[in-house]
Amino acid sequence: MIEIVNVSKIFDDSKNKVHAVQDVSLKVEKGQIYGIIGYSGAGKSTLIRCINLLERPTTGKVLFKGEDITLLSEKELREKRKKIGMIFQNFNLFNSRDVYHNIAYPLKGANLSKEEERKKVKALLELVGLSDKEHAYPSQLSGGQKQRVAIARALANDPEVLLCDEATSALDPKTTKSILELLKELREKLGLTIILITHEMAVIKDICDRVSVMENGKVVEEGDIVKIFSRP
Ligand code: ADP
Ligand code: ADP
Repeated sequence: MIEIVNVSKIFDDSKNKVHAVQDVSLKVEKGQIYGIIGYSGAGKSTLIRCINLLERPTTGKVLFKGEDITLLSEKELREKRKKIGMIFQNFNLFNSRDVYHNIAYPLKGANLSKEEERKKVKALLELVGLSDKEHAYPSQLSGGQKQRVAIARALANDPEVLLCDEATSALDPKTTKSILELLKELREKLGLTIILITHEMAVIKDICDRVSVMENGKVVEEGDIVKIFSRP
């Protein structure tokens, strides 16, 4: 589904050169939940942002279903990005819009009738278990509820891949658990492929099938979750 091939990212502001990601390759299969773990500054966020080209790799390729998306124009990329949803640690909701309009936002380009839009939003609300919060504003929601809204919004255009950037790091353990349960459910129901980055081992152990361990911009270990964590 997603293949990262020899990707490096160098931030160069003329004074400083930061090799945020160094020659990383990895492959994520359809329906997998793939984890990338590492300490702060390891390069996880830069790497995951290279997958939807929020960051352009300095060198290397990113294949989405076999196609090198680093070669696409900005216009082509906008279409492709609909197939790759993303959620964040701080949810990134519009505080001035209610839940309904946060979720409907990415549908604006889709030329849906008002009725179709409403149907879609209702289905998304049900999917994430927030049907009763349609008219609430983000300030009236708990952290877990906000992340559910963000997930619904990320799924509005029916993506095949969901990128999760420290999506549970602002949440308490119980809420983290419930969001991870939701992600598992979405994988089952929608056949979604999920790539997540985290510094929390518990998250990786709870839901990932496969994991990359990052240090200083490099992947230092990669493999099946069971193999990686059963080593002496
Ligand atoms: P992580 O997500 O694992 O905490 P990041 O990908 O955020 O790591 O950062 C990796 C390295 O790249 C860090 O040294 C960070 O300071 C640097 N970095 C990230 N983004 C930028 C940027 N836009 N400009 C310059 N350096 C950056
Ligand atoms: P926009 O046209 O920019 O999408 P609107 O403020 O017109 O935004 O809202 C879209 C429409 O959906 C409005 O008519 C609004 O009243 C309606 N709407 C929003 N939430 C609901 C709801 N829960 N039930 C019925 N209609 C709703």
